Amino acid sequence: MTLFAVFLFGLLLGSFLNVCIVRIPIGESIVTPPSHCPQCGVHIPPIDNIPLLSYLMLRGRCRKCGTPISPLYPTVEFLMALLALACYLSFGLSPMFAKWLMFCALNIVLVFTDLRERILPDVVNFAGLAAGLIASLFIFIPNSVRDAFSYSLAGASLSTRMNSLEGAFVGAACGGGVLWLFAEGYFRLRHKEGMGLGDVKMMLMAGSFLGWKGALLTILAASVMGSLIGLSFMVAGRRGRDYEWPFGTFLGIAAIGVAFWGPRLIAWYLSYY
Ligand SMILES: [Zn+2]
Repeated sequence: MTLFAVFLFGLLLGSFLNVCIVRIPIGESIVTPPSHCPQCGVHIPPIDNIPLLSYLMLRGRCRKCGTPISPLYPTVEFLMALLALACYLSFGLSPMFAKWLMFCALNIVLVFTDLRERILPDVVNFAGLAAGLIASLFIFIPNSVRDAFSYSLAGASLSTRMNSLEGAFVGAACGGGVLWLFAEGYFRLRHKEGMGLGDVKMMLMAGSFLGWKGALLTILAASVMGSLIGLSFMVAGRRGRDYEWPFGTFLGIAAIGVAFWGPRLIAWYLSYY
């Protein structure tokens, strides 16, 4: 029963994220106007606006004009429902569930705005950074080198909360800083921009949630993923050297992966020393 409720909640959240993904990059309000078909402008009634189900019932077409509805909508809804389930199964219904579900939601928006339009909106990055810093007052972010990378509640004392907030600031500075160095280095070497400031700001946000270990792991995983995908497309002759890859998309996927598996991965790595 709870599983079903969480799944449903994820679908609804995904449905809201679709609005963000489509409207924020073009500067439209996410509240008004209500949902409408981008082709014929017809107002979409609630019955045709049910996450996932309506898309299936309408067979992916607008009821009035028959224009295909982007598969983005059911994809994001279903993805978010799965991520909500994953958060519930990993963290239970706790403050950690809220923190990591919010983190997944922020990253899903950025993954798709970057994929569709090569845009990582400031409002998402900075609202996310603020959310990450606030969340660190409730969920502890380990900061020192010898602390294990693990998730736990921050406890009630002011000093642990301040330690955790410091961990969030260091994580943001580390994530954003390392990526900024990469961007600057690439620019000096190749004399053209390889990464935008959007990626740097995105890592400020991710670092504030993950702490510095999680931030570094995210950048590493995204770089490996990006290189493998970039190389295989080049070998297959599908994309030239000058194709602009959506690095934010790789960062977002990596960040979600680190949120769930980061602590285990780092513990496994350290067990070799
Ligand atoms: Zn239509």
